[in-house]
Amino acid sequence: MNIIIVGGGFAGINLAKELTNEPNIQVTLIDKNNYNFFPPLIYQVATAYLEPSSISYPYRKFFAGKKNLTFRLAELLSVDQSQNKVILDNGELFYDQLVFASGAETSYFGMENVQKNAIPMKTLSDAIEMRNKLLQNMEKAVITKDIRERRKLLTIVVAGGGPTGVEVSGMLAEMRNGILLKEYPELGTAASNLYLVDGASSLLSPMSEASQNDTYKALTKMGVEIKLNTQVTDYKDDLVYFSTGETIATKNLIWAAGVWAKQFEGIAAESYGRGRRMATDAYNRVNLTTNVYAIGDTAIMSTDENFPNGHPQVAQPAIQQGKNLAKNFVAMLNNKPLKAFSYYDKGSMAIIGKNKAVVDIPKPKMHFNGFFAWLVWLFIHLISLITYRNRLKTFYNWMVAYFARDQSYRMIIRPEKVKNKS
Ligand SMILES: Cc1cc2nc3c(=O)[nH]c(=O)nc-3n(C[C@H](O)[C@H](O)[C@H](O)COP(=O)(O)OP(=O)(O)OC[C@H]3O[C@@H](n4cnc5c(N)ncnc54)[C@H](O)[C@@H]3O)c2cc1C
Repeated sequence: MNIIIVGGGFAGINLAKELTNEPNIQVTLIDKNNYNFFPPLIYQVATAYLEPSSISYPYRKFFAGKKNLTFRLAELLSVDQSQNKVILDNGELFYDQLVFASGAETSYFGMENVQKNAIPMKTLSDAIEMRNKLLQNMEKAVITKDIRERRKLLTIVVAGGGPTGVEVSGMLAEMRNGILLKEYPELGTAASNLYLVDGASSLLSPMSEASQNDTYKALTKMGVEIKLNTQVTDYKDDLVYFSTGETIATKNLIWAAGVWAKQFEGIAAESYGRGRRMATDAYNRVNLTTNVYAIGDTAIMSTDENFPNGHPQVAQPAIQQGKNLAKNFVAMLNNKPLKAFSYYDKGSMAIIGKNKAVVDIPKPKMHFNGFFAWLVWLFIHLISLITYRNRLKTFYNWMVAYFARDQSYRMIIRPEKVKNKS
């Protein structure tokens, strides 16, 4: 069985891992990047707390020595289902079974100015760009004599009060409180406001009320100004416009407000469901196809009785679907019955700052916060990293940061070509 997997994120890499050494299965993993990365920690790269290599790993190194796994660096453009063929930006490949594990991409809800001017938070490249932009703006703030310009350079608006928005706000608040004065003495007590805005009436919408309240209180105490029931409607000429009629002048709008799945030519419009996700049956097979599957963020299924509106777009459903589909491919080859997917919800968590986090566990229903929740968050994220090497590097970095109360990755590293353009 010749299986093509498009995308090596949580879903794709777990599917590939489970199929390692299956004698009758050949896997080709296609990804537009040559590395797997860990999105839950990209905000730590963006805030110069971790180096990119701590949370990423090259596919080819991961696949080395695994005879039935091959990697192809390419972007999938379209599918020709009549010929079982995928069309890539650098060639074509044939498959017996095709799996979309292509994740989601940033959605700007149709706001072109926001797309053009905001800083996205979805990929590792976005994180490096954000790090560079924030650091460059701080350097510009040191030089300018214009107080209004300086305020715009130092003010940060984070749009999106989900875990990413909360975590990045907490980290930026700690940086401002611990590093700004120490390393940028020229700025003195210059105003540097940090806002977190969300269209909903609470932060961390899918989490428990206790977690939402704890987070609100902790961030407010750290100096983050939170604006709820407030949607971004435009961002131009360094002004963020809100649905409330308010505006904020800033050169830093961080966009952590929404994602939608990618659509591909060759997959019928009727095969897509809510959020442009590919609608599948209980075995992750895309509706109206015979041998095309979708797993992870890009898939939506309504057959799981506890999740009739689809699974949350987080890591665990992606991992569990990847593993279940691998077992089903092996079962198919052995003429055994397939197993319908059922999601086991292990809970959710968010870190707010040093020694501060919130954790919700569904069974038995439990909520905890503070230092213990923070330790749980660190442990879960550490063991979820892809290799021992990544775990060790991240652990080391966290220890240094914890005891030294600082980190030393605040370098602006850009290729000359890019640097000269900006
Ligand atoms: C900033 C951030 C923080 C997050 N924090 C958490 C968290 O704390 N906990 C949690 O559970 N979840 C979190 N999530 C969500 C979680 O990362 C996703 O649910 C998860 O990554 C989904 O896995 P996936 O395999 O479906 O997609 P992804 O991990 O997004 O992988 C998709 C892969 O497909 C590749 N790809 C896409 N299109 C193409 C193409 N056309 N051709 C070739 N390759 C392609 C991409 O390069 C990528 O490698 C976070 C997400 C973000 C962005």
